[in-house]
Amino acid sequence: MEKIIVHAKFHTGHRQLGYPGKCRFVHGHTWRGTVAISTEAFPRDALDMSIDFGHIKQVMRDLDHKMLVVESDATFMDPALIEPEGVVVMKGKGPSVENVAHHVFERVVALIGRQYPGRGIAYRIEVIIQETENNCFVVEQTATV
Ligand SMILES: [Zn+2]
Repeated sequence: MEKIIVHAKFHTGHRQLGYPGKCRFVHGHTWRGTVAISTEAFPRDALDMSIDFGHIKQVMRDLDHKMLVVESDATFMDPALIEPEGVVVMKGKGPSVENVAHHVFERVVALIGRQYPGRGIAYRIEVIIQETENNCFVVEQTATV
């Protein structure tokens, strides 16, 4: 078994519209993310490297200094008010740590698929997103790419 582990830190804004506490107001977090990918034997490129660690890190860094929103947050979807390049639209009902973890997971699967398409290799992918010192959410799933 082989395993890749990559850590990254990123700063974002978000708000939980409809939340009955202070999280409904725009606020920021310094998130810490870890992506761990394991498989029996990673495919290798021409330099005998597997998946570029920097590309995995970039999936998380793409969120850096962005406002994380969902489509229902009309204020942040209005390009007359907010520059679209500063906004990342997540799936779901809120830009929660749960949805941030799934967002990263889906992009890591897509990244592997772009580098090694159609290999039929099963990867166990774990995405750990730490929203605060005390709160983490983990997505752990097998993806066959
Ligand atoms: Zn928050």
